[in-house]
Amino acid sequence: MKKIGIMGGTFDPIHYGHLMTAEAVRDEYKMERVIFIPAANPPHKAGTMITPAVHRFNMTLLATCSNPYFEVSDIEMRRRGPSYTIDTVQELINTHSSNTEFYFITGADAVQELPTWDRIEELLSICQFIAATRQGCIPDVDAIKKHFGTLGEKRIHRLATPELEISSTNIRNRLKKGYSIKYILPESVEQYIRKEHLYLT
Ligand code: ATP
Ligand code: MG
Repeated sequence: MKKIGIMGGTFDPIHYGHLMTAEAVRDEYKMERVIFIPAANPPHKAGTMITPAVHRFNMTLLATCSNPYFEVSDIEMRRRGPSYTIDTVQELINTHSSNTEFYFITGADAVQELPTWDRIEELLSICQFIAATRQGCIPDVDAIKKHFGTLGEKRIHRLATPELEISSTNIRNRLKKGYSIKYILPESVEQYIRKEHLYLT
């Protein structure tokens, strides 16, 4: 079986927390590659202001292009309506050979929200989940696994990673206030943000 990781997110903007997590999981699970998928219309962020998808896609491309194992897909940007992961994974399964196994990678906060995801039981039955969390979050992930019973035990896995205290929200706030964002995201992404005047208001 060939393993492919999926790193889904809003990536508004992408930062070293996302990149480090994806690389740690890829390495540990010996994945062939990790596909970064910027959500076009994230259902859990409906009603909040998010940066146009094309900018988030471009930043994700800039951030990942130096890693031969990383690629970026516009699969959710080509679909209308809310970006549900189940539709994305289904489409990936349909377009890849049957010996491919998909692993959806999430951080500590996202895995807690799994019970609210659209058609989550169906999603768990077609795709594995890797929750990348710091050592202290073991009980949280165990609780989520329990919530889904046998399906959770079989499909949700935990990988201990040194979680970086970085979030896109924090980066956007720093930019608004004029604080430095160096060393928390790739330089190329910072240059893109400055060039396009993103996150100023
Ligand atoms: P926002 O602050 O806008 O919610 P974010 O930094 O949480 O942004 P998202 O695009 O919402 O980034 O998250 C995409 C995925 O990356 C989620 O699975 C999330 O748990 C994970 N993630 C976010 N920040 C980190 C981090 N610092 N370390 C590890 N994983 C992270
Ligand atoms: Mg988030």
